[in-house]
Amino acid sequence: MRRPIVAGNWKLHGSRAENGRLIEELTAQFPAKAVAACIVCPPFVYLQECARLLRGSSIELGAQDVCAEAQGAFTGEVSAAMLKDVGCEYVIVGHSERRLIYRESDQLVARKFAAAQSKSLVPILCVGEQLADREADRTEEVIARQLDAVLALSGVDAFANAVIAYEPVWAIGTGRNATPEQAQQVHAFIRARLGARSDKIAAETRILYGGSVKAGNAAELFAMPDVDGGLIGGASLKADEFLAILAAAGTQ
Ligand code: PEP
Repeated sequence: MRRPIVAGNWKLHGSRAENGRLIEELTAQFPAKAVAACIVCPPFVYLQECARLLRGSSIELGAQDVCAEAQGAFTGEVSAAMLKDVGCEYVIVGHSERRLIYRESDQLVARKFAAAQSKSLVPILCVGEQLADREADRTEEVIARQLDAVLALSGVDAFANAVIAYEPVWAIGTGRNATPEQAQQVHAFIRARLGARSDKIAAETRILYGGSVKAGNAAELFAMPDVDGGLIGGASLKADEFLAILAAAGTQ
């Protein structure tokens, strides 16, 4: 039985005051024994304070990115050890905004995945195709390439301590989510690709869907057999909306 996860990617949003209000509302209403696990991923500078505010709650903390290097002359970067040090349990790697805006290659993302695991952080590996890929029927090719880079470096057993998020780029922040059937098709493809190497890992790995998930469409997406929750952007900034998405993940 895979426990669903709902993770909020706050992106470049928030302030100490706003984060405090959001966490106060979430911790007040999120049940201690909820069916779904809940993770929030604030910007780096707020992680330590958010860790403090979340203490005693069942909401976990993640970062939005990590440096592939352990330490050294890498100005502006944040290492896996530092994230662990301030209370993170998870880190997003390979978000499409990192891949596209900051030109992160599949190989760099794979190194970030490995760096996270080397410090016992659970990577949330994002994969997803752009609209042009989907229209050219290259969705599976792109997802396979992104996934295989991590499999080549870390091996399939590394997924025992990792989460995958399928995020079609055309659905992120656009208000246009994948249909439940489109999501299921790609999630099944990802699971099969893991399954070609290990049935056990394939059966146990959580695969989240991300891309314009809202309270109004979460239940039908999460009802699909290979969708194990969601990675939520915009809707994770509103407590009521995020809590409704969490509730939808808990009723499947
Ligand atoms: C995301 O940034 O990972 C995301 C899914 O964003 P949104 O929910 O806003 O589409």
